[in-house]
Amino acid sequence: MKRTKIQRRIVGACALAVCAAALASALYNVTTTAAPEQDAVVEVVEGGQVPAGAVRADAAFVYQDGRLAMAEAPYFVGGRLYVARDAFARAAGREGVAAWRESRPACGINGRIYGSLYDVCETLGLWPVFDTDARAVTLYHAPPETAPAAQGAAQAAYLRLEDIVADYGISGRFDDEGLEKLRAQADYLYRHGQQYYIAWIPVYANPQEGIVNDLTRNYSFYNAQFLYTLDFMAGHGGELVAHGLTHQQGDEISAEGTEFGDETPFSEKEVRRRMGRILEIADTLGYAVRAFEFPHYASTPAQERIAAEYFEVICQQDKNTRTFGGIEQERAGAREVTYLPTPQDYVKFAERKGEMLQAVKAAPRGRLVSLFFHPSLDRDSLAFAVDGDGVRTYAYAEGGFLPQLLTVLRGKNLELAVLA
Ligand SMILES: [Zn+2]
Repeated sequence: MKRTKIQRRIVGACALAVCAAALASALYNVTTTAAPEQDAVVEVVEGGQVPAGAVRADAAFVYQDGRLAMAEAPYFVGGRLYVARDAFARAAGREGVAAWRESRPACGINGRIYGSLYDVCETLGLWPVFDTDARAVTLYHAPPETAPAAQGAAQAAYLRLEDIVADYGISGRFDDEGLEKLRAQADYLYRHGQQYYIAWIPVYANPQEGIVNDLTRNYSFYNAQFLYTLDFMAGHGGELVAHGLTHQQGDEISAEGTEFGDETPFSEKEVRRRMGRILEIADTLGYAVRAFEFPHYASTPAQERIAAEYFEVICQQDKNTRTFGGIEQERAGAREVTYLPTPQDYVKFAERKGEMLQAVKAAPRGRLVSLFFHPSLDRDSLAFAVDGDGVRTYAYAEGGFLPQLLTVLRGKNLELAVLA
């Protein structure tokens, strides 16, 4: 297998012994090639979009304590893990599936129909747990499907899950455990009938480690799990917001740095290229992205005008308004742009969850309730367990921020929504 440029650079950086063992394991393996192998015959069998290519994936599947016996290898298709779905179902003790979920196009590889792991797991009611170091996926049964609570006559409030980025776990937020907990949080909100925004940074850049992780170019086990997580969230009440392209510039690390605003080194042309690149990446991955959020809300009027050429919704305060803290519509050339601010701001660290809950409680009736939250702040409030039937359940402690937020919102007859 060829190694990507990124992997060579990571290996190189580690060889300098600058990264301790802990960091090396946090970096995970970025192995895999971006070029299709000879034996991958890719043709679309069903669905619309032609997959960009298929690359044989080094991934093992474990079901009920045993390795799933499948002759058909898994593949990366457009960065997602794809499995031969009939063989997969058979190996997991399920045959004769009448209707496969296809949120992503199924495709033919070597004469077999392959589906995305997300679609296959959703169809079969499975909950995967990824082990990036071992490149293994353990399959449990998902908690029983319950119809999400109906959206009532409540008023809308808005929540953004912030800074979601494929960082190989380097930040400590999006390692295997963090990504599984993010899926559980999405599931929790979904089962409570809530909708929410996902502030997604499309490209993770960490110049000090020599990493530029573009999901459309680097096919890897970690990235496949990250895409599984985005697919899961998008399928469970979440709508993607592009949160910059890299959320950094120069030597800064994604999610820490700032990309635009007064201090940006980027020309107007480069700003425009970045906005265009975001939509290209989203399109390649099959995501409809209509909203944009400037990292740290740093923007200039000229940059906002450019953003309005590419996106329908800008997640920040409309600076041209006299009434702060509300949703505003602005004419931008031929189109209307909606500004969606977060008057309650965000939970700055775990100890300040209570302050945010108070702020939401205190919001006057009829005023916008809108905030953002870094999901890892609830990491310690989530715990998984597997029962005797192989069902993986999660418990969300009552002291967790999201359960408390939903309680406060219910008390105010509010529910989380996304703009129509
Ligand atoms: Zn951010």
